[in-house]
Parts: sequence; structure tokens; C-alpha cells
Amino acid sequence: SEQGTQERKKPNILITGTPGTGKTTLSQLASESTDLFHINVGELVKEKSLHQGFDHEFQSWILDDDKLVDELEETLSNGGNIVDFHSCEVFPERWFDLVLVLRTDNTILFDRLKDRGYSQKKITENIDSEIFQVILEEARESYPAEIVVELRSNTIEDMQSNVTRIEEWVEAWN
Ligand code: ADP
Ligand code: MN
Repeated sequence: SEQGTQERKKPNILITGTPGTGKTTLSQLASESTDLFHINVGELVKEKSLHQGFDHEFQSWILDDDKLVDELEETLSNGGNIVDFHSCEVFPERWFDLVLVLRTDNTILFDRLKDRGYSQKKITENIDSEIFQVILEEARESYPAEIVVELRSNTIEDMQSNVTRIEEWVEAWN
């Protein structure tokens, strides 16, 4: 639908950020405490082959933007979703009522990515991307400034306060 938010009875939230910043953990917790549905886009891309093959240099799937948007269009038009993805420019602006960009300090992010077994190259790429605020800039270029919110995600306390913040925001939207 091209109508935007008017026909949604529940909001859609995008949770984005560099890999390792805590998107999936926060999305799961927030989905449990609101009645929003968690969509892990990275998993969906693999499951439904919404890609054009594997990029061996970057060790990642080459996203098929059109396939991904088609796959999600109906669900997102209905509202009530938390979309979890490490990129945000692929989605239509009209889908989201709130865009959260998770941010993590370098040393903490380094440890999380190392624990995940990422190669040195992939760790460096992601740390650089976090330092240069690549995803935050992408979000600011892709969505209205008033719906883009940067959230710190270093500690468990940060995570808890982020969950509370989402709960309160959803209540206010309703
Ligand atoms: P993403 O989905 O952004 O790649 P994950 O949610 O998988 O990140 O989190 C990566 C790792 O960091 C997990 O082990 C998770 O438990 C941990 N983590 C995520 N957010 C926090 C946080 N705010 N404080 C402490 N650990 C966190
Ligand atoms: Mn994830």
C-alpha cells in the first residue's frame, strides 16, 4: 500500500546498527514485552533466498533488494513489526514509525565480534563502520530526522532501558 501510517493499527519499528550492537537481542526482548512481531531480516534472506549469491570477498550474501521488499510488503503494511537488520536504506521510508540505531563502544564491539568467530578482516570492517557512524548516517539519509533515535547498547543496563523505552513508545503510539 502507498498510504503510509494511516491504515496501520500497530506501529512498525526498525532496529538497525552495525553487526554485534545487539539488534537481535533487543528485538527479541522488545517483541516479548510488546505484541510486536520480530522479523530477523538476515535469517529471512537466507531462508527465502532473497539474495543473488554469496560474496566471498566480503563473506556475506548479496541482497536482492526487490525480492526482500516484495517479501515483506504485506506484513509491514499491516503494522505491528520489529524489523531487525544491519542495513536500513533498502526499506521504503513509509514502512516505519520509529528507527532505532544501536551504538556500541569499539572495545566492547570488538570482543562481541571476536566471540562470534568473525575473521580479523570482518572485525576491522565492522569496527571501522561503527567508528564512522555508517549506519547512523544511512538512517538519517533514509528516514525523517524526528523518527531516527540513536541508542547506546554497551551494557545489560542499556539493554533493559532500551526495552523499557520501546515499551513506553509503543504504548504512547497506541
Ligand atoms: P546483532 O543482532 O546486532 O548482531 P546480537 O543481539 O546478536 O547483535 O548481540 C551480539 C552479542 O552481544 C550477543 O552475545 C549479545 O548477548 C550481546 N549483547 C547485545 N547487546 C548487549 C548489551 N546491551 N549489553 C551486553 N551484551 C550485549
Ligand atoms: Mn542479529
